[in-house]
Amino acid sequence: MKFASRINKVPPYLFVEISRKIAAKKAQGIEVISFGIGDPDIPTPNNVIEKLRETALDAPNHRYPETDGLPEFRKAAADWYQRRFGISVDPDKEVLPLIGAKEGIGHMALCFIEPGDIALVPDPGYPVYSVGTWFAGGECHWMPLLEENGWQPDLEAIPDEVADKARVMWLNYPNNPTGATAELDFFDKVIDFAKAHDIAIMHDASYSEVAFDGYRPASFLQAKGAMEVGLEFHSLSKSYNMTGWRLGMAVGNAEMIAALMIIKSNLDSGVPNAVQYMGIEAMSSPRSMIDERNGIYQHRRDRVVQVMREIGLHVDPPKASLYVWARVPEGYSSAKFTEFLLEEGNIVVTPGNGYGKYGEGYIRLSLTIPDVDMEKGLERMAGLKIPPA
Ligand SMILES: *Cc1c(COP(=O)(O)O)cnc(C)c1O
Repeated sequence: MKFASRINKVPPYLFVEISRKIAAKKAQGIEVISFGIGDPDIPTPNNVIEKLRETALDAPNHRYPETDGLPEFRKAAADWYQRRFGISVDPDKEVLPLIGAKEGIGHMALCFIEPGDIALVPDPGYPVYSVGTWFAGGECHWMPLLEENGWQPDLEAIPDEVADKARVMWLNYPNNPTGATAELDFFDKVIDFAKAHDIAIMHDASYSEVAFDGYRPASFLQAKGAMEVGLEFHSLSKSYNMTGWRLGMAVGNAEMIAALMIIKSNLDSGVPNAVQYMGIEAMSSPRSMIDERNGIYQHRRDRVVQVMREIGLHVDPPKASLYVWARVPEGYSSAKFTEFLLEEGNIVVTPGNGYGKYGEGYIRLSLTIPDVDMEKGLERMAGLKIPPA
C-alpha cells in the first residue's frame, strides 16, 4: 500500500502531541491544567439548543440538506452582517453556510491552487491555510507576522515575482495565535495589493465576536473594494460557543462563493438543516448573550495577563480573540518553556513555534478554561521559580 505524499507532508496536528503528554501525566494520577486548545468551555446558549431539539423532530430535516443551505439561514446571515457591520450582502449569491470555518478554508484552496501555485500565508498562523494549500498541490510563501509590525504582514516585503505568481492571500484578524487586531486602513492596503497582483484575499474572521473593553473588530468586507477581491470566513464556533455543532459561513465575492459551491457540492452535502436552524437562532439572539460571554473572557484575560507579568513575561493584553500571546523568558525557546511549565507546574500551554517558525519565542494561552481551573493554574504558575536558561 502506498499513500499519497500529502499524507506525510503534513506536520502532526499540534494538539495531538500535547494531548499525548497530558494523557501520560494523567496516567500517573497527576492533575494537569490546560491553557492549550481554544475550545469554548461555556455551553451553547439554551435557546439555540432548544431550537435543535425542536427542529430535530421535524422529519424533512432528517434528509440531505442543500449544499447552499436553507434560504432562511442565508437570509439570517445577511441580516446579521447588516446589523453587525452595516453592509448589505446578497443572501443568495454572496453567502454560503459551512461545516465550520475550517471546512470552508480547507476547501477554498481547491478553488484557487493548481500544483505549484503559491499561496501567501501568515506565520505564525492557523495551520489550515498552509495544509489546505499543500493538499491542493500548492506551495506557501510565508508572510512573517512580527511584533514590531503589530503582527501584520509587511506587504512590501513580498517580492514582486512571488506576488505575481501568488493566487491567494490568507489573513486572520482578530488573530490566532497572536491576539492582534486589524483596522480598515490595513485592509485598504491589502485590497490595493490584491488588485495590483490579481490575488484573491481570504479573510478568516472567526474571532470577530470575541472582543474586550467594548471593542468591535472590523469586517474585511467593510473596506472599499473588498467584495471585488475576496471572501470572509465566519465561525459560529467561537462567536456562539458552538464548536461541537460545526457551523460557519463564507461571505463575499459571488464568483468565489460559486466556485466554493462547486467544490462543496461534490465533496460534502452541506450543513444538517437542524444545525442551520441553530445558527439562525444564534444570529438572531440579543447581543447581550455575546457581551456577557465576553465579560467572562475579559476577566480571564486580565487575570492571565496579570500573572504572566508577575512571573516576568512580556505580554500585551489582547483587544480580541481567545488568546494571550506571551514572550518566553530570556534564553528559553517556546518548546523549552512549554516543557518547563508542564514538567514543573503540570500546566499545558501551546508553544508558539507550533504555528510557524516566527512563533518561536512565544507561548499561547487560551482563555477557554473554567475560572476555577484557571485560578488553580495561575496559582501554580505564580509559584514557579523559573531557573535561568
Ligand atoms: C477555531 C478557528 C477556526 C475554525 O472554526 P470552525 O468554525 O470551528 O471550523 C478557523 N480559523 C481560526 C483562526 C480558528 O482559530
